[in-house]
Amino acid sequence: MAVGVLALQGSYNEHIAALRRIGVKGVEIKKPEQLRGVDSLIIPGGESTTMAKLAELHNLFPALREFVGSGNPVWGTCAGLIFLANKAVGQKTGGQELVGGLDCTVHRNFFGSQLQSFEIELVVPKLAEKEGGTNTCRGVFIRAPAILEVGPNVEVIADLPVSSDQPKVVLPAIDGQEEREFTDDKVIVAIKQGNLLATAFHPELTSDSRWHRYFMAMVEEAKQEATPSEALVKYDVYANDEDVNAIGKRHLDLPIFE
Ligand code: GLN
Repeated sequence: MAVGVLALQGSYNEHIAALRRIGVKGVEIKKPEQLRGVDSLIIPGGESTTMAKLAELHNLFPALREFVGSGNPVWGTCAGLIFLANKAVGQKTGGQELVGGLDCTVHRNFFGSQLQSFEIELVVPKLAEKEGGTNTCRGVFIRAPAILEVGPNVEVIADLPVSSDQPKVVLPAIDGQEEREFTDDKVIVAIKQGNLLATAFHPELTSDSRWHRYFMAMVEEAKQEATPSEALVKYDVYANDEDVNAIGKRHLDLPIFE
């Protein structure tokens, strides 16, 4: 099945091209009902406030939340990461609507304005372990966000030292916690939580296909996990009494190879 790419704004064409390079079809998602035709989704980078306004205009938020909540693999890059975060700071006054699902606090434009955009080699042993190649990848950060905090079920895949001239960052009082200054010497820039993947940078703008392959491996794994219960449903529908007796009391939640 093709991978959906949210195509409201931002680098969706680049993601579709990156998928094409590894032989995967990406389809543009612009309307809620189109999500029914895919079982995985990439939310690209761009401008998250603009993307949120367009998503609202097209009534996409409920469908996106349901898609994420049902456990479908979803990968957010940059603005897409902000979309998936449960909490975002550094937003425009009044905030912006988020899809949520990722247990993390993200800071918009953490590294500064467009002029402070940069490229850097990121150390990514977990990516190399799964997809081969060198232990580093090129990180393209364009007015990028950074992840400041993650919940217990979140796996950190890449982080970055905070530069000494980083302006002071204050985390506002949320969820009963007091307002406090962010003083960690590192920020997180790539995470995985179950079937959700998020990167603060733009792998689709490089020729390194490993992030897209990594996401496709997550999609494949999710499909395999879904297969036994699908088989069970089909069996329940078609089984006659004799088949049920033959199987006896065996648990049907595992695939049967005989
Ligand atoms: N700064 C943008 C935002 O807040 C994200 C930038 C990007 O996606 N490259 O939405």
